[in-house]
Amino acid sequence: MKNIGTQQKKQSEKYLNEFVENRMLKYGVDRDYPAINGSSKLSPFIRNGQIHVSNIWDKCYKYKSKNISVKKYLNEIGWREFSHSLINYFPEMLKGNLRKEFDKFPWDKNAKNLKAWKNGMTGYPIVDAGMRQLYETGWMHNRIRMVVGSFLVKHLRINWKEGEKHFRNCLLDFNEANNVAQWQWVAGCGADAAPYFRIFNPILQGEKFDKQGLYVKKWVPELERVPSKFIHKPWEMETKYQEAIKTKIGSDYPSPIVVHEEARNAALKAFQTLKN
Ligand SMILES: Cc1cc2nc3c(=O)[nH]c(=O)nc-3n(C[C@H](O)[C@H](O)[C@H](O)COP(=O)(O)OP(=O)(O)OC[C@H]3O[C@@H](n4cnc5c(N)ncnc54)[C@H](O)[C@@H]3O)c2cc1C
Repeated sequence: MKNIGTQQKKQSEKYLNEFVENRMLKYGVDRDYPAINGSSKLSPFIRNGQIHVSNIWDKCYKYKSKNISVKKYLNEIGWREFSHSLINYFPEMLKGNLRKEFDKFPWDKNAKNLKAWKNGMTGYPIVDAGMRQLYETGWMHNRIRMVVGSFLVKHLRINWKEGEKHFRNCLLDFNEANNVAQWQWVAGCGADAAPYFRIFNPILQGEKFDKQGLYVKKWVPELERVPSKFIHKPWEMETKYQEAIKTKIGSDYPSPIVVHEEARNAALKAFQTLKN
């Protein structure tokens, strides 16, 4: 056991050194693109106590004044500390909404949609790629965590607790404070939360952060033959074209389980009820 612990500690230091030497100075930009290995991927090591955030902080701090990317990286470590402080001061967050007005939110208990989300079968390629990456590897890119989270809570109006539970079961870096605080941030019911009207558009998020569809094609191989113009909205391909590239939407890959504009409007209407 002792040897395994030492090996993993060494491996975490190797990851940190490799990140600092080769990738940290580009982190500010690269971290947003899921097809790029742009973040440190240290979260599972931190979660398992194989590296301490103070070691990471010390290693990076000497570069701080020189580079915006380093500041951004240290900010993220700061978010981790913020999440832990939040749970320390407001432990009731582990059980329910920090902002109590959300207790009356009309969540939709739609088991079919929840299953489609968990299985990466929503018909929105960027969401499905993220959910499959999570299931297959136990890790998901941060931007995509925000996209899939927003999709569950806002497009499907399913309680964030379902998402938190699924992440808890799948994430190698699962950490109660980070997970709960981040899910409540996504849902709009946490501290300093994303406002309810901030609804990620999964098509635009895909087009902006995975323009060529490389990330989508890696995790959703049935879309391999779809050209980048349609990779984030494959249902817009003409039927004849779908036949030609042997990628029939509705059979080879699901049609969208909700229509973006309709789901967005329904979410805004539901959130409006909190004000009454
Ligand atoms: C819905 C949702 C659930 C999440 N659940 C978890 C979780 O259970 N465990 C977890 O460690 N992170 C969680 N995060 C935060 C973040 O996605 C991961 O920490 C990050 O993707 C880990 O990859 P990395 O080590 O390459 O991160 P890097 O970008 O390299 O960041 C370095 C470290 O900073 C910390 N960090 C980064 N982003 C955040 C953040 N937004 N909030 C808090 N700490 C952060 C992590 O410890 C991370 O390892 C969640 C985010 C969302 C949106």
